[in-house]
Amino acid sequence: EEKRSLNFIEQIIEEDLKNDYNREDLQFRFPPEPNGYLHIGHASSICLNFGLGEKYDAPVNLRFDDTNPIKEEQEYVDAIKRDVEWLGFKWAKECYASDYFQQLYDWAVDLIKNDLAYVDSQTSAEIAEQKGTPTEPGKNSPYRNRSVEENLELFEKMKNGETKEGEHVLRAKIDMAAKNMLMRDPVMYRSLHKKHHRTGDDWMIYPLYDWAHGQSDYLESVSHSFCTLEFLPHRELYNWFLEKVSTPEDFRPKQREFARRNLSHTIVSKRKLLHLVEKGIVSSWDDPRMPTVSALRRRGYTPASIRKFAETIGIGKRENIVDVSLLEYCIREDLNKTAPRVMAVLDPVKLVITNYPEGEEEWLEAENNPEDEAAGSRKVPFSKELYIEREDFKEEANRKFFRLTLGKEVRLKNAYIIKGESVVKDENGEITEIHCTYDPKSRSGSGTEESMRKVKGTLHWVSAKHAIEAEVRLYDRLFTVEAPDSDKEKDFTEFLNPESLKIIKGYLEPSLENAKILDQFQFQRIGYFNVDKDSTPEKLVFNRTVTLRDSWGG
Ligand code: ATP
Ligand code: MG
Ligand code: MG
Repeated sequence: EEKRSLNFIEQIIEEDLKNDYNREDLQFRFPPEPNGYLHIGHASSICLNFGLGEKYDAPVNLRFDDTNPIKEEQEYVDAIKRDVEWLGFKWAKECYASDYFQQLYDWAVDLIKNDLAYVDSQTSAEIAEQKGTPTEPGKNSPYRNRSVEENLELFEKMKNGETKEGEHVLRAKIDMAAKNMLMRDPVMYRSLHKKHHRTGDDWMIYPLYDWAHGQSDYLESVSHSFCTLEFLPHRELYNWFLEKVSTPEDFRPKQREFARRNLSHTIVSKRKLLHLVEKGIVSSWDDPRMPTVSALRRRGYTPASIRKFAETIGIGKRENIVDVSLLEYCIREDLNKTAPRVMAVLDPVKLVITNYPEGEEEWLEAENNPEDEAAGSRKVPFSKELYIEREDFKEEANRKFFRLTLGKEVRLKNAYIIKGESVVKDENGEITEIHCTYDPKSRSGSGTEESMRKVKGTLHWVSAKHAIEAEVRLYDRLFTVEAPDSDKEKDFTEFLNPESLKIIKGYLEPSLENAKILDQFQFQRIGYFNVDKDSTPEKLVFNRTVTLRDSWGG
């Protein structure tokens, strides 16, 4: 690990260790709500919590914050587990807030008995109206002084589903004049007559975040509960509840906040991502244009690249937008070391070598990865008719164009030096064939004087007769602006990039015939690609993971 200074979260922990914490006290958790798939923002939080676990050799729980059965599903639980595992982390325990429903209920009953909670029978609009403003105190509910007996009876009925949804809520009795609006008798429970993906019909009331979260931390002996900055004002309530349910000598978790991470040209909000899926704007949660962990995996991102990204952006106290180019940089760096190089032509034009013998072919040696000698080499077929990229040829060009022109030489990668001779055009003036001659003595690696000759450009190619056709999916940013959800006037879907997916036919060297789903390659001079999960042996499908920053020989 590279030496870096401690981030402010680590400083908090170091400070606690200097004071009254032992190393054995340290324990963390990652607490997703299973209401969607994890996105790159979550990855940052996962890397923070599990990273601390690794650093301090402390357990980290995976806790599902499953307190809202309307939006939560087993499918999401499974996807979250898969993603955390794939990122390379191991949780100590798999926990669910729903496992604590009984304990939370018992504590709520205690609060009622201690005159610290009451059943309010007003509508949510009425309750909101009495909240007051940051400068004006709120008003007490007319139900605030219900007797303990009545509260207990109503609360039990709520739990059993014997009252209507929305008829009552349970509120903490704190202070309607508190400076912190969240302390003005916050709602602890609401009635929801909904089946829960784990507890079924057992509960007809569900705890709200503030009531469930801190107590779950406490029950699991979490020492530091990290959440995003918008929860800063909740800290007072977090502590208030803990104070009421624990005894003074108990070890209490600490909530501390860090800044949410946003990625440019996308959105990191499960709710909005779900909207894209439901409206069919993307094909699924793992559509490779999505910023979800599962989409990144499908697209060819590696766990190492995502961890590197999270580490590079670090942990901060101020919310910011990280440019997506940093994420792209991280995957490029990783794949540059590991991805085998292959040749593929995505916008073909035919190249005919007029002095190459008709019907003949030869299999030329090609290095698999110049960054990794152990990767070895393979053979690629060469013949009289090839495909090259249309943009690699111009009939006439200035001196800065180092690709193929008439009368000039270039090298074909792993093969020969050729010289442009003439073109064939159709009635629209479009070039249909380029004719060239090759220098038979110039074969790469042959050691001849001719093979050492320096020419300015090197082109990739495939043999027309041997090439395999594949579907190639070219992705671009899903949104045309940096922060699609920051516009107050416009909906984020107004900024969708209509060209975020382009499907084309590519021509690949035949070594790719047996490529397996998720296999990764560098299509030389083009970019990094992997095999999509839609791929079959009959119809290969490739995703462009990321373009190449550099291309060899211009
Ligand atoms: P969303 O709005 O996408 O649903 P959330 O915060 O409601 O996000 P949770 O499932 O509650 O989603 O998040 C689990 C953990 O991940 C929380 O601790 C949360 O703070 C953290 N987290 C979520 N989004 C980000 C983000 N963009 N950057 C950093 N951490 C995040
Ligand atoms: Mg949340
Ligand atoms: Mg949420």
